Amino acid sequence: MRSRDGQVRLSNGMPHQARKRFGQNFLHDQGIIDRIVQSINPQASDHIVEIGPGQGALTRPLAASGARLDCVELDRDLAAFLQTNVGKQANVTIHQQDILKFDLASVQHDSRRLRIIGNLPYNISTPVLFYLLQQHSRIQDMVFMLQLEVVNRMAAQVGDKNYGRLGLMLQYYCEVEPLFNVPSAAFTPRPKVSSAIVRLIPHQTMPIQAKDPECLQVVIRTAFNQRRKTLKNSLKAIISETELTTLPLDVSMRPENLTLADYVLISDALTEQSESHENE
Ligand code: SAM
Repeated sequence: MRSRDGQVRLSNGMPHQARKRFGQNFLHDQGIIDRIVQSINPQASDHIVEIGPGQGALTRPLAASGARLDCVELDRDLAAFLQTNVGKQANVTIHQQDILKFDLASVQHDSRRLRIIGNLPYNISTPVLFYLLQQHSRIQDMVFMLQLEVVNRMAAQVGDKNYGRLGLMLQYYCEVEPLFNVPSAAFTPRPKVSSAIVRLIPHQTMPIQAKDPECLQVVIRTAFNQRRKTLKNSLKAIISETELTTLPLDVSMRPENLTLADYVLISDALTEQSESHENE
């Protein structure tokens, strides 16, 4: 329940104090909340998973759409608050759990792919994104509030200063569409950083397919660990210059100048090499 001063009261009657360790910045701007919900455009036939519902700013309008809604909230007090307030609706289930340990398969009981949404806790946003990528085939789309700086990295193209591991791996699995920026004043407490909404749509048919996506991750991570070096130097630990020069690439380029297709080429060469060693 909210008291007259607009604060959320927990079951013990005390107002909820935002917890920094859980990345709690609650949305209060109704105009922004409406715009996010319009971007999601929830339908009664949807199955939505909300990450970090908090005090329910997005949960209430999503629940009102009639969609099947599974909410994953780590904070025990807020999960109990939500259970009392929205959890009683037949279409809503509150899970008091860590999203990084939450298996999407545990709630996906029919052929519908899931829509994942959330004003993410910024302190764990990158691990959450990588965790969801592992389950991409279960997902229809994702709409997230994130730090603007993270959204810029997610959408960065080759040559941009923000181009790196996050953008490459997300774009390998998904179409990335930044939607709009959100000012700090829309939250209580105000975050110190700017925020933005982004939509991710997992590719139905992968435009580029690596033989081994895990190997691709290793190649990209290794390259960007030393992004100022040339490719042949930054990848020295995993592929020799001789092997690298057999590929149609300029090995004197820096990691930020290679496209996703270039990284897949290197990754596939490494995968083939290890397969041929295994067969020897
Ligand atoms: N959705 C609410 C809103 O927009 O006002 C709250 C957003 S707040 C930025 C992030 C929420 O994620 C908090 O409610 C926090 O308790 C929750 N949270 C933090 N870490 C989490 C985790 N590992 N798993 C699930 N929820 C988490």
